[in-house]
Amino acid sequence: MKEQILYTNLKFLQGVGDKKAVMLAKELGIHNYKDLLYYFPFRYVDKSEFVEIKDIRSDEVFIQVKGKIIDKETVSSGKNKRLIVGFADKTGRIELVFFAGLKWIYDKLIIGKQYVVFGKPSRFNDTFNFVHPEIEPEDVYMSLLSPSDKGLTYKYIPVYSTTERMKNAFLNTKAIAKITRNLINQCYGKINETIPEYIVKHYKLLSLQEALINIHYPENPEILSKARLRLKFEELFFMQLEHQLQKSYRTNKSQGFVFSHVGDKFNNFYNNNLKFSLTNAQKRVIKEIRNDTRSGHQMNRLLQGDVGSGKTLVALMCMLIAIDNGYQATLIAPTEILAQQHYNSITAMLNGLNINVALLMGSIKGKKRQNILSNLEDASIDIIIGTHALLEDTVKFSKLGLAIIDEQHRFGVEQRSKMWGKNNVLPPHILVMTATPIPRTLAMTVYGDLDVSVIDELPPGRKPINTLHLTDAYILKLYDFMHQQIKAGRQIYIVYPLINESEKLDLKDLMDGYDSITREFPLPDYQVSIVHGQMKAEAKEYEMDRFKRGITNIMVATTVIEVGVDIPNASVMIIQNAERFGLSQLHQLRGRVGRGANQSYCILMTKDNLSADSKKRIDIMCSTNDGFVLAQEDLALRGPGSIQGTQQSGVLELKIADIVKDEPLVRTTRDLAQFIVSNDPNLSNENNLLLKEYFLKHPVVSDYSKIS
Ligand code: ADP
Ligand code: MG
Repeated sequence: MKEQILYTNLKFLQGVGDKKAVMLAKELGIHNYKDLLYYFPFRYVDKSEFVEIKDIRSDEVFIQVKGKIIDKETVSSGKNKRLIVGFADKTGRIELVFFAGLKWIYDKLIIGKQYVVFGKPSRFNDTFNFVHPEIEPEDVYMSLLSPSDKGLTYKYIPVYSTTERMKNAFLNTKAIAKITRNLINQCYGKINETIPEYIVKHYKLLSLQEALINIHYPENPEILSKARLRLKFEELFFMQLEHQLQKSYRTNKSQGFVFSHVGDKFNNFYNNNLKFSLTNAQKRVIKEIRNDTRSGHQMNRLLQGDVGSGKTLVALMCMLIAIDNGYQATLIAPTEILAQQHYNSITAMLNGLNINVALLMGSIKGKKRQNILSNLEDASIDIIIGTHALLEDTVKFSKLGLAIIDEQHRFGVEQRSKMWGKNNVLPPHILVMTATPIPRTLAMTVYGDLDVSVIDELPPGRKPINTLHLTDAYILKLYDFMHQQIKAGRQIYIVYPLINESEKLDLKDLMDGYDSITREFPLPDYQVSIVHGQMKAEAKEYEMDRFKRGITNIMVATTVIEVGVDIPNASVMIIQNAERFGLSQLHQLRGRVGRGANQSYCILMTKDNLSADSKKRIDIMCSTNDGFVLAQEDLALRGPGSIQGTQQSGVLELKIADIVKDEPLVRTTRDLAQFIVSNDPNLSNENNLLLKEYFLKHPVVSDYSKIS
């Protein structure tokens, strides 16, 4: 096996040794030759790219300067001891300043000798200096670029990230460049291909060997970009292939309940109770779920749909199919308010159909709770709606066929996977719903082996919400507007941010807000409700109910109303300190209005001088109502780490590919992986031998069926 060399401990590489090997392992997790080969530079410097001292203008970029050391002096003023080195080329002089390792550096640097200095200049009054730059004798530096005995030529010098600790141990980027050069010489001719030839050819990829050499020491910019492409391809392709293998394994091996038919409950509801027609997107999604649940395999599906797109109805209709087939179904919501609301609207919609719907939440206790639990166990309850309380061990089903999790981003992985254990025989079908839309390719990557359905259409007749930005100085204008709206019969939400660092302060903000609102909108002409997390469930419910029934005009609240609350007559959403919210949260809040026939408004209140980032978020909010566009923007602004679920998906550990910027490549590799797995699920085809070898070395986690 020629590749064995790649697994050699790094300490054996020329120029490394025990000490540096330990440092590289500790600081960067680099243990063997292969790890170092995959430690890519983040930029390159051209050997001709030297800046003359007279031309130094900016303290923002790394530059390199060639010159001579002309003097050196240790300056001592108390603890401010430092070494000042005069460095000059033919155009001028600049100072190099060192605060640590003074003696060592002092002895090492030789006056009159030619050096190359690399670093970011610091501005010092009217001049520049370098603080702790990297410095290297010119001949040593240039030797990095001399042709190797393998005939490889070097034109660019790679720049690697290092840590402070590494720098202090003289393992700076130049030192790493030196050892990667040795590494490449050592490994040349010994790097095996990992991707089958037919793929390499079809996509015109560089060989792995060429790519790895050129990513460190590129011959020219063209080959560098090819090397990047090849390595990104490899990274994404194996990730997608793993997902596809998992999915195929699950679909083929995991047994699920069979919902063979659609029966009376579904049909009666559809024909008699449903007041409007389903959107095409709703129909499509119901079909997808129907197909999953009659396939004999267990369903694991994610349903994405913008706020107000009608996910609850889809959930309900799927639960009816479960009941038609003799199973129970459950719907779990993240808050009591939401669970209660689902319970109310679902019981109303099922009126006259003789379906037993129950509600279980933490606040339901004693005898009432006992009754629910025993009715659930003896199957006299068909549908149970509730909160986390449903996940407790005391909650036992007779025959749970379908579990639906609403607003899944509010649940932890562990809580979600608990649903799996609720049956002894087979796990229930699982549908998780989210109103935080993420771009489709990202969803497929982040949610790995989950199937994804999308409701990409709102029910007809919705008027786009008008979103405005006001600074706090315009509060009187805002009050005028609120008076008008209330006169017209509308209701208004005012939301305050809840920031964990100080619940007390947040609550104070909210109470102050409530006070000024009640002063401006006093009894008996106006009624104002307040809801926040510190209130008892019954009190919250009482207030929500009053608002829902139109008794109160204004609801002052924290983000507890963020998800799902559905009150069509509420047409104004005012968000205080809007700059403190993220885009997706703002969009969720905005989604509380625009549900009725009237023109709705979302008003973003902020302080006067916003940071550039906040300003951008607010502007984006004002410019679009489309949740997918916002998600795309959020992703661009905050990166994939901002998206729930990315932590488990591995996208944050990518070395070279970027799941957002390289979206086309994500698609390409996903399609390819899909094609391969559907034609050759066990990778037993001779052409796919390399892939099979890869997965023998990196086995696919087989117990992926837990939702993550
Ligand atoms: P979300 O996807 O945000 O959970 P909901 O399920 O709360 O959305 O639906 C929002 C509102 O739209 C509800 O009042 C619901 O009754 C209504 N709705 C759902 N589907 C349709 C439809 N096809 N036509 C008209 N209204 C609908
Ligand atoms: Mg909802």
